[in-house]
Amino acid sequence: MLYVDGKWVEADELSVHPEDRGYNFGDGIYEVVRIYKGNIYQWEGHLTRLIRSAREIQLELPWTAEELSTIAHELLAKNNITSDDDATLYIQVTRGIAPRVHDIPSNIRPVIMGFVRRKERPLADMKKGITAQIIEDIRWLRCDIKTLNLLGAVLVKQYAKDAGAQDSILHRNGIVTECSAANLFVVKDNELYTHPANHLILNGITRLDVIALAKSNGFTVHEEPFTVDFLKQADEVFSTGTTVEVMPIISVDGQAVGTGQIGPVVKKLQELFEENIIKTVLV
Ligand SMILES: *Cc1c(COP(=O)(O)O)cnc(C)c1O
Repeated sequence: MLYVDGKWVEADELSVHPEDRGYNFGDGIYEVVRIYKGNIYQWEGHLTRLIRSAREIQLELPWTAEELSTIAHELLAKNNITSDDDATLYIQVTRGIAPRVHDIPSNIRPVIMGFVRRKERPLADMKKGITAQIIEDIRWLRCDIKTLNLLGAVLVKQYAKDAGAQDSILHRNGIVTECSAANLFVVKDNELYTHPANHLILNGITRLDVIALAKSNGFTVHEEPFTVDFLKQADEVFSTGTTVEVMPIISVDGQAVGTGQIGPVVKKLQELFEENIIKTVLV
């Protein structure tokens, strides 16, 4: 069951208005949230970010944080998500329906839609690592907003796939930003490097988790820009995100990263992340 604009419907019963601005312009925002064993992981972080994204695009949410939380929990209940299930929860808010003009119509009512999908954790890839291709970051200059307008992300991911890799690592003028839908870290001499959280990246909940876990376990974390050349000399590379968790990248542009095997730092961070999930899900 999907939750759409106050109603519960099946996917094949859903119709989209031709002048919903989400449909015409990608004018809206979204979140993808992890469900581990029937429990929502890091809901507060996702909720806070959804509210921030709305504010940044001048979309006034007509729901309180509490109402949004109720919708999320009802989505799990209506879809019979139990403690046996790993899943993802998707929530989007479009600006709403109005005759098509570019500027923001007044008195427009946002449309919310949410669904749940059962989804296993990517345990095999997390063990084995994935391949990536360096691609120019062709996205806009407000990557800090989790907007529905994802054509840039769609294309860079496809360019990586066309080049035979599993994900793209993006750069702007030689500075590494992030992946198509995940944040990027490199490890050099046991220290972590990741792009600072500004308008050029989406500040991931998983990114923040990993930085906090790394710091509290004695790692130095540099939130500073670094180059593609620096990345290519790195000992380890990995991406982070709600669905990819802590994902080792073992080859970049067809060249092995470090030894070409999963490194000790990423392995340690995966263990710490796992403990964090267990701690969060069991309370
Ligand atoms: C969602 C997203 C991420 C990862 O954020 P999480 O909160 O960790 O899921 C990273 N980069 C982009 C571009 C994203 O859209």
